[in-house]
Amino acid sequence: MITVVTGGTGMVGKCLREIIKKNKELNENDFIFLSSSDCDLTNITQVEELFKRIKPNYIIHLAANVGGLYKNLREKTQMFKDNVRMNENVLEMANKYNVQRGIFCLSSCIFPHNPSKYPMDESMMHESEPHPSNQGYGYSKRMMEIQCKNYNEQFKREYLCLIPVNLYGPYDNFNLEDSHVIPGLIHRFYKNKQDNSSFQMYGTGKPLRQFVFSYDFSELILKFLFEYSGDKTSIICCNDEISINELTMLISRLSNYDTNKITCDLTKSDGCMKKTVDGSLLKQIYPEFKFTSLPIGLEKTIKWFENNYDQCRK
Ligand code: NAP
Ligand code: GDP
Repeated sequence: MITVVTGGTGMVGKCLREIIKKNKELNENDFIFLSSSDCDLTNITQVEELFKRIKPNYIIHLAANVGGLYKNLREKTQMFKDNVRMNENVLEMANKYNVQRGIFCLSSCIFPHNPSKYPMDESMMHESEPHPSNQGYGYSKRMMEIQCKNYNEQFKREYLCLIPVNLYGPYDNFNLEDSHVIPGLIHRFYKNKQDNSSFQMYGTGKPLRQFVFSYDFSELILKFLFEYSGDKTSIICCNDEISINELTMLISRLSNYDTNKITCDLTKSDGCMKKTVDGSLLKQIYPEFKFTSLPIGLEKTIKWFENNYDQCRK
């Protein structure tokens, strides 16, 4: 039985590969990890050739045009276009070539920014508009959720959507302009420590975020693909929430950077102030699942970044 993993060279794809290698019940040779150079998923001809050639039994669709707040603000049209095309092409060809079951990766960015209540649960995904910073990426992911449901209803497929909160870990994109907050902070502390300069946290530090270590998410992907018998879209989070200010202080301490040298750059947007989601459904499905604590996950990520500085994405 062959499983194709799109986005196999990204952060989640690489963590997933490590987890599969260590799992004695799985055979690494049953998984095909793809990059954009194996197949440009925005190109329908290439996607059809891929499915025709490999004829996978399962799919884990991770590939996406992804980035942090400042990339989402800057590149809305491109992110919408790339993600809608990739998702449509993958779904259409998965169905055409008879892939019965798969995991499709959404994001908590898709949730409304003015919801009727917090924490938001899975039923509230389409309640009202996503935050203005997520009009490109967020809507493209919402459309994929709708289309998975359509395939499930019309063709009796089992295309499951998972909704992780902000992810972080080894193999992340540490680019200073485009990255998410955790890799951005880790990289900037690393640089500022070298020249002993002061540090500016972007925005007020007041926004709240939830984080999941990408190895935890990878383990859950495999559980949902191979063990789960339900059909529910599930939020992937552990309910802990932290402000950007607390997160910055935590990363600065773990990076051995002097916290007194930190100020705010208020010219930079805060983005969404709060997007708290509810992990109750996941807890119900996998009550035993233990998430890595943020300090432990951050420590591992910082160590990985320092040890892999020369070759990592940045
Ligand atoms: P990532 O590290 O940025 O990796 C993106 C992957 O997508 C790479 O393997 C890349 O291939 C591939 N890709 C991009 N454009 C492609 C194209 N046109 N054709 C084929 N492949 C293409 O992403 P990630 O952080 O692992 O995210 C994995 C999934 O989780 C995504 O669906 C993302 O939306 C979702 N997610 C991420 C976060 C987060 O905080 N990172 C949070 C919630 C949800 P190349 O290496 O060849 O470029
Ligand atoms: P979001 O969760 O989709 O908004 O994306 P991010 O992971 O990029 O988190 C953005 C939040 O972190 C915003 O409130 C930013 O103001 C704040 N932030 C503080 N410093 C940084 C940084 O160095 N990079 C990024 N991307 N965000 C930062």
